[in-house]
Amino acid sequence: MKIKSLLLLGILFFTIKVYSHEGMWIPTLLQAIEEPMQAEGLRLSAEDIYSINHSSLKDAIVHFGGGCTAEMISDQGLLLTNYHCGYSQIQSHSTVDQDYLTDGFWAGSKEEELRNPGLTATFIQRIEDVTAKMLDAMASVSAEEKEKALIEMAALIEEEASENGKYKAKIVPFYYGAEYYMIVTKTYNDVRLVGAPPSAVGKFGGDTDNWIWPRHTGDFSLFRIYADAENEPSAISDNNKSYKPLKSLQISAAGVEEGDFTMVYGFPGRTEKYLVSSAVDYVENKENPAKIAMREATLSIMEKSMASDDKIRIQYAAKQSRVSNAWKKWIGQNFGLKQQKVLDQKIKWENEFQSLVDEDPEMKTKYGDLLNKLQLMNDSIESYKMARSMFIEYVYYGPELIRFINKFDKIVQSYEVLEKDGKLEEEKEKLMKATDSFFKNYHQPTDKLIFDKLTEMYISNVQTELLALSLRNPKARKKLSNNIYVKSIFSSKKGVKDMLKKIKASNVKKLKSDPGFKFASEVYVSYFTSTRPNYSKYESKISDLMRQYVEAQRILFPDNRFSPDANSTLRLTYGKAEGSRPRDGVIYRFYTTSQGILDKYVPGSKDFDLPKKLVNLLENKDFGSYAHDDGTLRVCFTGSNHTSGGNSGSPTLNGKGQLIGLNFDRSWESTMSDIMFAPDICRNIMVDIRYVLFVIDKYAGADHLIKEMDIVY
Ligand code: ASP
Repeated sequence: MKIKSLLLLGILFFTIKVYSHEGMWIPTLLQAIEEPMQAEGLRLSAEDIYSINHSSLKDAIVHFGGGCTAEMISDQGLLLTNYHCGYSQIQSHSTVDQDYLTDGFWAGSKEEELRNPGLTATFIQRIEDVTAKMLDAMASVSAEEKEKALIEMAALIEEEASENGKYKAKIVPFYYGAEYYMIVTKTYNDVRLVGAPPSAVGKFGGDTDNWIWPRHTGDFSLFRIYADAENEPSAISDNNKSYKPLKSLQISAAGVEEGDFTMVYGFPGRTEKYLVSSAVDYVENKENPAKIAMREATLSIMEKSMASDDKIRIQYAAKQSRVSNAWKKWIGQNFGLKQQKVLDQKIKWENEFQSLVDEDPEMKTKYGDLLNKLQLMNDSIESYKMARSMFIEYVYYGPELIRFINKFDKIVQSYEVLEKDGKLEEEKEKLMKATDSFFKNYHQPTDKLIFDKLTEMYISNVQTELLALSLRNPKARKKLSNNIYVKSIFSSKKGVKDMLKKIKASNVKKLKSDPGFKFASEVYVSYFTSTRPNYSKYESKISDLMRQYVEAQRILFPDNRFSPDANSTLRLTYGKAEGSRPRDGVIYRFYTTSQGILDKYVPGSKDFDLPKKLVNLLENKDFGSYAHDDGTLRVCFTGSNHTSGGNSGSPTLNGKGQLIGLNFDRSWESTMSDIMFAPDICRNIMVDIRYVLFVIDKYAGADHLIKEMDIVY
């Protein structure tokens, strides 16, 4: 018997190829990797994970607020995501007197759950391969007409799939347009806050620990989806009832052991694994350093202000996180790119590719010049690419006033059209609301300091011809800050609101000469007329070349697995619960325990303070039914799942599809995995689901929520 099973194991060992865990797989194509996943411990079929014929795991997965992932964990629409994904909602309900950031928030009943206008929860209805139709549409038209043909065909197919607005359908290119998939979704708009631990738990470790292992963060929050009487999406309303999902995840509190199969199901945002060496060189040596420096400048100003005043601390909490998250990631990414010598690896790969192509006359005719062309195009796009990144950094992550003022562009430029179409009042009301919410979290002296600093940095990083006129002229530049932050009508809430109240056809033109408005519009116009068109022109050429590059690699290396880059669509990635050896002399164990929380605890510190009640529970080892077999309370664990930004909040599932963890980060050495996944080093970080349950149950005493869940021990 024993010999027989050993033999069988041997056969299995030799017949099943062991693959690296790289890859974010399209859920409709899981049949192709079902076998290797099962060999590693999956007990389900591909159909259990994604199906359109019956409920499957996909029906429990939610695209949360457009940028994160979440999952259904009860049949009453209870939703679990990261603390950092719900952070801006938690912040928006907080004031100095009712400080949910410091104290946490727990709704005692459904009536107490807090509404969040604008927050959405989207489910995937189905994913459909529409490559043939899309490529057909392009086949019979000239090169110049291709883009138009694609857009028209996509609109046609999407319209049909939307079933008169019941669903939203969007066609997305994969492998740079070699394949196209249509994603059909249904979005719920009434998503309420149910529970959040204090920041000292949800963000424990703060920026110091962000992207770092070992980690001890309880990065979770709870929301609930509400629907109309038919369980369909509805605007926020008192009449809505909690949503009944097609599927909610069973939770396993049985624990995770080293080597256990894990999979992460969610919406990774963007990876660029096929980049050629010149593009990697640009990211590593030009773009990342410039972006890092700009964010560093913003952060140091913000943090000083936040430390000086409690009100500013709350006002800027979510904004600071938004800026600091990618700032730290890029630093880590550059570290990893250098450590792994990614540039050298890319060059080596390209040399190998080129010689294989050159060996085959047919391949040579078709792809022989590809890498040269890519290099040329990458050189040509560089200044526009930089100008684009700097515009994003300056306008979206720098001073806020420019972006706020730009919201008024429509009413100023198209006043008469709005009036004629009867849309004027609606627009005014929208702007009134935007003004209230902008000034609620705005501290002008802080923003002005950021403006002064970042304007200089923006100018020095962008080619002069691509700058707004007043930024090119040193004399005009000197007066800018005063003009915008003192003289402009946009310098005060009252000024803006009075202006909106009095606005009419005869005085709207005056606004055009407001110094703040003038400047904001110049910045946007120069971007949209000079940078963007050039960037898009080269980008579409690069994309076409990249499509051919990936296509050629697939021909040359038929045995390799080529997974598509992330593009914010639903993906499954799988791996194991495992640690790593990230650097010389360092071994990462795959889990952390509550002892580490106590070890890191520094009373009164910004990143490592703890609520007294938690300290007591942990010191007394009062872990309830959530302790591991060895008596410890596990807090976080790592795995070799290939994840990215957007996977924040994704469920980590075991081989049976039960929820065992909540993905929220990657280790420092892994942050380059968006460009190159190193199987021995790249690890995603998850909160152990037992720590989540412990905080909800033992710390917050919200056992009514625990009762909603289906937990197996
Ligand atoms: N912590 C990440 C984020 O904020 C998740 C990741 O990139 O792994 O998006």
